[in-house]
Amino acid sequence: MRLGALRWLRDRCRILGRDVLHYSELAQCQVEGEKVALRSQRGILRPRQCRYPLTITTSPKNPYGDHFDPGTDLLRYRYQGDGWTGRLRATENSDNQGLKDLIRLRWPVAYLHGVTSGQYLVVAPVVIVDDDPVTQTFGVCLGAGLSAYEGLGDVSGAALGQPLDLPWQFDRQRYDAGVARLVRHNEFKARVLAAYRFRCAVCHSDESPLIEAARIAPRTRQIRLDVRDGIAMCPSHRTAFDRLLIGIAPDHEIRVRPDFLRRARTAGTASPNSLLHVHGTRLWLPADPAQRPRADALSERFGDFEFSARLNP
Ligand SMILES: [Zn+2]
Repeated sequence: MRLGALRWLRDRCRILGRDVLHYSELAQCQVEGEKVALRSQRGILRPRQCRYPLTITTSPKNPYGDHFDPGTDLLRYRYQGDGWTGRLRATENSDNQGLKDLIRLRWPVAYLHGVTSGQYLVVAPVVIVDDDPVTQTFGVCLGAGLSAYEGLGDVSGAALGQPLDLPWQFDRQRYDAGVARLVRHNEFKARVLAAYRFRCAVCHSDESPLIEAARIAPRTRQIRLDVRDGIAMCPSHRTAFDRLLIGIAPDHEIRVRPDFLRRARTAGTASPNSLLHVHGTRLWLPADPAQRPRADALSERFGDFEFSARLNP
């Protein structure tokens, strides 16, 4: 069941061509004809078919302060329930106990990293490697590929309660905190794409596997990029935006560089990617104003576009 659910997650991401899934997509998980819950209001989820937790989630607002340890790069995942929750202390909570058991068992789980409302970046399989009662966190790192676990037999059946007999090479994973790298690498793109619902903001194309996150200020030295620093675009429009062939005015009107516009008009191309079709239209924006492009970045970039237009009359 555990491997079946992890396999389902992997396959769903492959089919959709993205590793961000919406809550409603996660709710469709079925293994051997049975629905398996992957996400609930709680951070640590143990579906009724499993004896131990199957997924851990950081919500987009991250109220519990899950973070990456700068020393080891391990994901530090907060215990469920900070301090006293009802009559249970955090350390005695059964979900926390489940994760502690998984350290010993070495069974894999999936990490769902919230990027924006209802959208989660899927990182799987991951393993719980340690538990720190002082900071009240678990250490989480990237597990081996699913195929490696598949070779070990049924993780949830016959071996119930037994630690996985992993080959020695698996111990190397303790030093490879790939979760931090994966999340850092994918988070900006995931946030931008989710905000724009996997559509190009210029032409509305929804070929989701192809949609990219264009940086509004491409030369920025900023390390942590915010959703407001990017715009989702198809490859043609991203390239055109990067090369200043299209500009986005502060009022969100899309302009094509005049020399290109003239050339497109002369050629009279009917291609749907033609820049001719987008000139004078408006950028398609996320519904949430807090996710829309930063006005100062946009206007600075538009200044570059106008400069480029003057150089290419
Ligand atoms: Zn486009």
